[in-house]
Parts: sequence; C-alpha cells; structure tokens
Amino acid sequence: MQYDVIIVGAGPAGIFAALELVKKRPEKKILMLEKGRPIEDRHCLKRETGACKKCRPCNITTGFSGAGAYSDGKLILSSEIGGFLNEYVDDDELRALVDHVDSVYLSYGADEKVYGLGENDTVRSLRQRVIQNNLRLVESPIRHIGTEKCRDLYMIIQKELVSSGVEILFRNPVKDIIVENGRVAGVVADREYRAGSVVLAAGRDGAGWMNEMSRKHDLKTRVGGVDIGVRIEVRNEIMEEVNRTIYESKLIYYTPTFDDRVRTFCHNPSGYVAAEFYDRDLAVVNGHSYKSPEYWSGNTNFAVLVSNYFTDPFREPIEYGRYIARLANMLSGNRIIIQRLGDFRRGRRTTQARLKRNNVVPTLDDAVPGDLSLVLPYRIMLDIKEMIGALDAVFPGIGSEETLLYGVEVKFYSNIISVGPDFETGIKGLYVAGDGAGITRGLVQASINGLLIGRALSK
Ligand SMILES: Cc1cc2nc3c(=O)[nH]c(=O)nc-3n(C[C@H](O)[C@H](O)[C@H](O)COP(=O)(O)OP(=O)(O)OC[C@H]3O[C@@H](n4cnc5c(N)ncnc54)[C@H](O)[C@@H]3O)c2cc1C
Repeated sequence: MQYDVIIVGAGPAGIFAALELVKKRPEKKILMLEKGRPIEDRHCLKRETGACKKCRPCNITTGFSGAGAYSDGKLILSSEIGGFLNEYVDDDELRALVDHVDSVYLSYGADEKVYGLGENDTVRSLRQRVIQNNLRLVESPIRHIGTEKCRDLYMIIQKELVSSGVEILFRNPVKDIIVENGRVAGVVADREYRAGSVVLAAGRDGAGWMNEMSRKHDLKTRVGGVDIGVRIEVRNEIMEEVNRTIYESKLIYYTPTFDDRVRTFCHNPSGYVAAEFYDRDLAVVNGHSYKSPEYWSGNTNFAVLVSNYFTDPFREPIEYGRYIARLANMLSGNRIIIQRLGDFRRGRRTTQARLKRNNVVPTLDDAVPGDLSLVLPYRIMLDIKEMIGALDAVFPGIGSEETLLYGVEVKFYSNIISVGPDFETGIKGLYVAGDGAGITRGLVQASINGLLIGRALSK
C-alpha cells in the first residue's frame, strides 16, 4: 500500500490539498483517509427528524467536506478573519489567495451574491451606533453558500476527486503516524499505509488526536486559546438592518469589569440553532441558515464568545472548554440548555411554562430549559451580560427578557503546531493544515492552507 501522498481528513483543508495536487501532478498516487462518511451518506437525523440519534462519528462534524458540509457556508472574503495565515503568508499574496479560493468555490456553484460591499445610510448609521457604544465592527465581504447548497457543491468535488484517481477511504480514522529516521513513512489506520508525504488535516474534531500525535512524536506546539459563550436567538426584526445589508455582525467588545475580549460570531439570519457533538457525546451549540427562503425561520441567531487564553503553568485550554461543556451536558442529559435572558439575569431556571409563553420560539426544539449560571464561571457570565448590554444599545431588543440563550458554545482551538515554510513540521515530509493544526478557523483559510500544501507537494 504505497502512495505518494496521504491526506488525513477530507475537510476543506484536505480537499484543497488534493484538488491542487490532482491539477498540478495528476500522476501522483494520492490516498485520503477520513474518519466519517462519504457526502451522500452524511445525514443528520437531528436536522431531518428533530431527534438526535448520536451518530458515531457525528455527521455534522465528520465525513467528506468535514465541518464544511453542514456548515452555514459563509465564505469570509477577508485575509484578516478565519485564521492566522497572515503569520505565514504576506498580505498581498494572502488577499490574492482569498480571491482564488473564492473563484474555485464559485466554479463549483457557490452563489454569485456577495454581502457587505455596498455603502448606504443603514450601514453608516449602524457603524455610528457601534462606535458610540464602544464596540468594533469588523467589516468583511461575505458570500453565503447556505447549508443545503454546501452539500451539493461538495458532492461535485467528491465525484471529481474520485474520477481523477484519488482514493478515498471512509470510516477509516488514522490512529498513528509512522516515522522512520526523522522522516514520515506513512500512517496506521485499519492497517498500515505508506507514503513519503503525509498531510494531517483532521479539523476541530481531530484536534485532540493532533495534540496526542504532537506529544507522541515530539512536534513543537504553542498553546492556543478557547472561546466559551452562548448562542443568542432573537426575532429577525431585531437584526433586520444587519441581515439585509452586511449579513454578519462581527463585533468586538472589551468588557468594563474584566477588560475581556468578547465577540459576536457566526450570525445566521432566518437561521436555526443546532447541536453538534464532539468526542463521544459532548453536545455543544452552533447555528446555521439555509439559502432557500422556503427553509427560513423567523429568527436570527449568533454566538457571543469570550476568548480565554491561559498563562503558565496551564497548557490545556481544550480540556478547560470540554470541562465546561461536560458540566452543561451533565445538567441537561447531554442536550443543549436554553434560558430566557430575563431568567439568566435573575439567576433562575427557565421553565417549560415560561418558555411556552415566550414570543421568541426556539428553533432548537429539544433544548432543555435550565440555568446557565450553574455552568458558566462568574467571569464569563458577567462578560456575556455586559456584551448583551452593549449590543442592546446598538440593536434595541437584544436585551429583552425574551431573548433566548443556548449553552454552551465552545470553540476548541487546537494547539498551534509549529511549522516551517510550506507548513512542514519538524518531521520531514509531515505537513499539517487547517483548524486541527491551530492555523485556521474558517472555510476560506482552511481551503487556502490545503491549497498551499498541495502546491508545495507539486514542486
Ligand atoms: C456547524 C458549523 C458551521 C460552520 N459555519 C462556518 C461558516 O459559515 N463559515 C466558515 O468559514 N466556517 C464555518 N465553520 C467552520 C469550518 O467548517 C471549519 O473552519 C473548516 O471546516 C475547517 O476545515 P478543516 O479541513 O481544517 O477541518 P474539518 O472541516 O473539521 O475537517 C477535518 C476532517 O478530518 C476528519 N478526521 C478527524 N480526525 C481524523 C482521523 N484521526 N483520521 C481521519 N480523519 C479524521 C474529520 O472527520 C473531518 O472530516 C463552521 C463549522 C461548524 C461545525
């Protein structure tokens, strides 16, 4: 079983590495090993039937196209957002790569419309209110593919890779890498597969495994951070200005009490709140929205996240995030906790009765009414309250008693694996890419990272 290149993980990073290799060096023998299922077999029963069947591995985060297939498919067309590639690539080149990757997504059927480019009175007034309330609005063009269209788009890519001769083995998680005399020689999955070059692109789902590999094979890492918070759901009417103009409100706030950095993230107009599962059953909250109006809900959701970075001697931010998620799961029977903002402020549990009379109807219907103050550390709770206060001054109504909070949302950012030029690690022939390597945090940058490795391996 000898290959030229083995790619571990068929998310955007792995896919773009493969696409580039196929284009530039079609003679190379390429193997992709993926823990999850092919795209046509990825069905989230929770989204289809309303009841989570706890599939293993989770169909939301694993399978062809990784966390991309069921993602909202917002392509953030900025070199500043979605990862740290600007530490590795100079600004002009990175901007050109963003355009290039965008054109590849367009060629596979992404929607032509780009949000956030126009300047009008609504945008000007919004920007003014944001500044007046000590927030910062990060403006960036966004192309919205939409959850259901992402699936079609990646289906085309999967077929193209297979017909170009790339061998993809699904339900085949890699357990270890083989290193001989300081150079990579292959991987161990259901059996040994050998190759002179290996690309690890295991995503957030594989972040724990990537850490394990780093420890076992002495790869140098830097400690990353972890973002912890809640998902907020309001009626569309509250966020209409953003939804119609810039589509996504990326707002950053430094809280008055702790001076902590809190941000809004992953804004979903007419969207749905969703649960996703990490590491055998750990339920955390997320959100998405569809492209076609027939699937739209009457609500908008977005995350409010507090960034947590730790100093010596603590080196386990992912474990810290997991611990908080586990605590929430313990109280809710492995489901997502939902709480009305009025109850959150008063420190009392939301009950079914109060939820039933709420004007904002939850889009995640199996969330368990509960009390997030039993889960979140005081500092994070206060940061969230202060952020909601600032947001309410910009978008009156966010601070309403009836606003819904879902918890917990945790963004596990992997430890950052040290790499040289071309994203090669200290082990010759071993490359790392994407969210799992701590280098990226979004579809566009993960795709660029894969593409650059594809180019390096084509030399
Ligand atoms: C619900 C949701 C919505 C999102 N929405 C957006 C959005 O709108 N815009 C945006 O820019 N980003 C979004 N993201 C983030 C985006 O999906 C990720 O940044 C991106 O997919 C990262 O790409 P990746 O290739 O690094 O990793 P992933 O996409 O996570 O892919 C990694 C793959 O590796 C596989 N794997 C893991 N371990 C192993 C192993 N040991 N062996 C073999 N295979 C393994 C996994 O099964 C997975 O398929 C969203 C994420 C989620 C979960």
